[in-house]
Amino acid sequence: MELIDSHCHLDDDRFDERRAQVLEAAAAAGVRRLVVPATAADRWEKLKRVCAGHDGLYPAYGLHPWFVDQHRREHLDELDAWLAREQPVALGECGLDFYRGRTDAEWQTELFAAQLDIASNHRLPVIVHARKALDQVTAQLRRHAGHGGVLHSFAGSEQQARQLHGLGFKLGIAATVGFERARKLRAVVAAMPDDALLLESDAPDQPGPGHRGEQNQPAYIVEHLRVMAELRDSDPETLAAILNRNAENLFGIPPADG
Ligand SMILES: [Zn+2]
Repeated sequence: MELIDSHCHLDDDRFDERRAQVLEAAAAAGVRRLVVPATAADRWEKLKRVCAGHDGLYPAYGLHPWFVDQHRREHLDELDAWLAREQPVALGECGLDFYRGRTDAEWQTELFAAQLDIASNHRLPVIVHARKALDQVTAQLRRHAGHGGVLHSFAGSEQQARQLHGLGFKLGIAATVGFERARKLRAVVAAMPDDALLLESDAPDQPGPGHRGEQNQPAYIVEHLRVMAELRDSDPETLAAILNRNAENLFGIPPADG
């Protein structure tokens, strides 16, 4: 079974000591294509190097809202030039994160809106992060229509999911769907149409129920694919083919050979 990890921070320093092993384990599990989203401008060069060093790694570049203190207005111009030169599969990740409060909400929103417009100019999909800010994110996506994208690590309601899907967005489903208590998310996964979902690890963060306290890995997405298949009364192979096609279509990733 072939799987695409639509969101893996493979450039993260926590993988420095064992990146090759992590990729080997992923390949052994059928995960040979991964989208690697960025966090901050001073990390783009490393991300580029990591993706160039292995087959099947597709970079995205952007300014992640969690690192809002590191971003400068001139990084937006640098991003624009970087996207033109590197031709990545997406802009990301970008978005809004109000987990630590909203004191910098205005600056976050400015950065997010600007990135949505940059993505639109480059005809790129966006990889969007939303924490404690899903409605605000959705409002921005409505205001700055572009070429669609993914709301990564989706954790909202079915109503919010349908609004995003209506705006041309897919929902990135992380391993949290494996927790019995994630009732709202499990209902979303059961209810949404085939073309609305993507599979993602968000590794090294967000380990699933079988890996509490561990670093998450792309190989583990096989486990929550099975959970998703069960929730959708499907089988893993059928669902994998659907989710691969969704990722291929959104990011322009070539199909696996053979
Ligand atoms: Zn992420």
